[in-house]
Order: sequence, then structure tokens, then C-alpha cells
Amino acid sequence: MQVDLCEDGGHNPHDSIARTLNTNSPIRRNLLVLDDEPEICELVESVASTFGFETASAVDPALVSPSQIADADVLVLDLMMPGTDGIEILRNLTDSTHRPDIVLISGLDKRVLDSASNMARVQGLRVIGVLHKPFRPGAMRQLLETYVNRVDAPELPASGAIGPQFTVRDLQQALARDEFVVHFQPQVSLIDESWVGVEALVRWQHPVYGLLYPNAFISIAENEALALAFTEHVIRIALRQYKQLSEALGFHGTLSVNMPPTALTDVHFPERLLPLLREQQVPPGAFILEITENSLPESDKVVLDITTRLSMRGVRVSIDDFGTGTSGLERLHDTAFDELKIDMVFVRNAQTGSAPAATAIVESAAALGHRLKMNVVAEGVENRPTIDWLRSVGCDVAQGFEVGRPMPTEDLIAWANARQAGVGSGLAQ
Ligand code: C2E
Ligand code: MG
Ligand code: MG
Repeated sequence: MQVDLCEDGGHNPHDSIARTLNTNSPIRRNLLVLDDEPEICELVESVASTFGFETASAVDPALVSPSQIADADVLVLDLMMPGTDGIEILRNLTDSTHRPDIVLISGLDKRVLDSASNMARVQGLRVIGVLHKPFRPGAMRQLLETYVNRVDAPELPASGAIGPQFTVRDLQQALARDEFVVHFQPQVSLIDESWVGVEALVRWQHPVYGLLYPNAFISIAENEALALAFTEHVIRIALRQYKQLSEALGFHGTLSVNMPPTALTDVHFPERLLPLLREQQVPPGAFILEITENSLPESDKVVLDITTRLSMRGVRVSIDDFGTGTSGLERLHDTAFDELKIDMVFVRNAQTGSAPAATAIVESAAALGHRLKMNVVAEGVENRPTIDWLRSVGCDVAQGFEVGRPMPTEDLIAWANARQAGVGSGLAQ
């Protein structure tokens, strides 16, 4: 059976993670179920086999070796089993080189499930779903369908956690060969849904592997030896493309570029940035540097020096993925951020209604942002009701697949034209 799930009208062959789902996929994946209820094992296995998974299950984890568990591509794990609990299994997995993607199931309180899921995430595991028992087979089906669509993409080696291992040298060569490209994701105002900005997201046009996404290489690019050169390179590309957008559409919204804290090491960066902006006729106020919260070093005076001097020159500074770091409030206290980007994990959980805490976090982050006179952006907006809800809780700007996926400049020009003509999907109408 072939189901076409393409969501973006086929404009962009690269960024569309939704693709044709082939349930007879030749790619074999292993799915292991660990649950002390045999009926649950049976149910999950039968749903998974319809998606082409090779399945196995055990009602007692002691019957399965640690390497069998680690070798699974997907591990469906009951949190509470007699003898061993799921947390112990998750903890052991973090020592393995191959790590399965995790589906957590349990009859325990939803908050316990949510904290188990967070604990797994913090340990570097990818939790692809959380199901509260009893659940309908349809819920498991939907979860696996989404999963298969996201990872069943051999043409995108970066879409999974497993991919080629790159070195700093590989990336240096790629910089020298100009192999990085930037896609723009649009942002809209929640007041009138006008298009107000773009975020530049880097991709690597690899000569062998094709288009690679940040999860395949960004941790190397953010290595201190490379971070600043890499960031400046991306800024140059983004500014050039922004100029094309301005020329093609008269667009004068904001341009956001990601800057890892590891790149905030050179106090002369602000002086180098300004001429680059001038060269492409981008006013400093239209340029936003997004700094990820969760990797900000503790009160580093160089970071403060740079961010303060950027602000003094009119460049805007944004705290990205707000809510996921450990020092967020302290950072807000110390640094004059102009923008707060609420991490998509909260926005997405709030929109699915799967975690009441997420709703409270988004609402409080919006209130906090405004209190501190910051522009509040919500990331990961995937449907229309979320847009309306975010507006009602006072967020200023929305970014996410419902608005538009990250895309090459020419696709973004087509997106904007279609929007103006009132055609297409989502906010284009
Ligand atoms: P980020 O800065 O938080 O960027 C948002 C990420 O969320 C992007 O993934 C984007 O494609 C994805 N996204 C946007 N809307 C939605 C949505 O509605 N649903 C879902 N599920 N995802 C959505 P991408 O492009 O793979 O980038 C991942 C991360 O890589 C970025 O997170 C950023 O931390 C890092 N990154 C991207 N470009 C650069 C760069 O030029 N330099 C550095 N240092 N890091 C970068
Ligand atoms: Mg960002
Ligand atoms: Mg973010």
C-alpha cells in the first residue's frame, strides 16, 4: 500500500520529512517489546509487523541480553515490570554505541511517564512516543507510521541518529569547498499572520551522502576549534541569500542565525559582524543571533562582553530553545536578550495536550518574556489550533511546519508568492 503523506506540495524535495510511505519497505528494522503483559507484546508486534518491522518481545527483560536490547532499532518499553524497571534499562542503554529509539508505555501516572521520557532525553536517547495504558492499537499505529515516515529516507542520512561520523577536518574541508547551504524557515506575526522573519538553518550538501541535516554534523561544527569560523561562514551565506529575498520580494523582515556559545569566544566578533551586515545592506536591527540556552557556559564574561556589545550596536540577541537548559533564568537575569524562543518540545506537547505542564510552561514563558520586554517566538507550530492558542496566550511570533518548512531561497520566494496570491495550504490561505 502506498500512502502519499507529502505535506508541502512538493515544493522542496529536501526539507520535506513527510514522504511516500511504503509499507512493503525493503528496509528491515527491528522492534523489540519489553512488557510483562503478553497481550501488549502481541498487540505491539502485530501493529509493527504491518510496517515491515521484524519484531521480538519478552515479558521478562532478564530473558533478553543487553546487546539484544541495544541492537533494536525501536524499543517499546514498559516502565514497570516485576524484577527490572524500565528506567534501569534506559540507564544501561546510554553506555551502548547503538541506541534504539524509544517508545515508553505504562499505566503509571502521566507525569511519571513524562519525567521518564525527559530522563531518557537528557541521557541522549530519542523518545519517539509515550503511550499511557490502556491505549488503542490505533495510537501505536499512528506513532509507528509517523516514525517510519520520518526515518524511512535513505536519501537523507541525517534524519536518523545513526549516520556517518565526521571529524573537524572533514568539516574544515567542507567549509573550504563551500559545501554548506542555508535553508530559510519563515516566521509569522501572531497578530495579523504577516510574514515577519526567517531563520537560517544550515545543511551540508555532501558530495557522497547528499543533503545532510544539522543532527548529522552540528556537534562537530560546534566544536570550539571550528565554531566561530563555521558560524561566520553560515552568516555570510545567510546574508547573501537574504539579500536575494529582499531583491526578489522587497522583504525586510528579520534574519535569524544560530550561534553556539562555543563560538562566543572572540571579543572582536561584533566588529567583524557589522561590516558584513553593511555589505549586504542588512540593518543591524533586522539581524538576530540565536544563542542556545542549554549550552550556555556559566556566567562567562567573554560571552557577556560580546552579547552586550552586539546589543549596543543594535544587533538583536535571542535565547533559543528556551526552557530546555539549566541556567535559563540566570541567563535572562544577566544578559539583555531581545527575543525568547520557546522550545518546540513544549509547544508540541502543549498542542497534543499530552502534558499539562507543557501548556503551563508555554504560558509562563510568554508572560516572562513580555515582562522582560522580549519578543516571544514559539517554535514547532504544527497545526492551526496551536496558532490560535499561542495568540491567545500572548506569543508574538510563530515558526513551524504549519507556517512553512525550512526551504531554499527559490522555494521561499514561491511560498511567499503563493501566500500573497492566497493559494497553497495553511497560512497561505
Ligand atoms: P533550532 O535552531 O531550534 O531550529 C529549529 C529546528 O526545528 C530546525 O531543525 C527546524 O527544521 C525544526 N522545525 C521547525 N519547525 C518545526 C515543526 O513544526 N516541527 C518539527 N518537528 N520540527 C520543526 P534543523 O534545521 O534540523 O536544525 C536543528 C538544530 O540544529 C537547530 O535547532 C539549531 O540548534 C541547529 N542548527 C541549525 N542551523 C545551524 C547553524 O547554522 N549553526 C548552528 N550552530 N546550529 C545550527
Ligand atoms: Mg534556532
Ligand atoms: Mg530552537
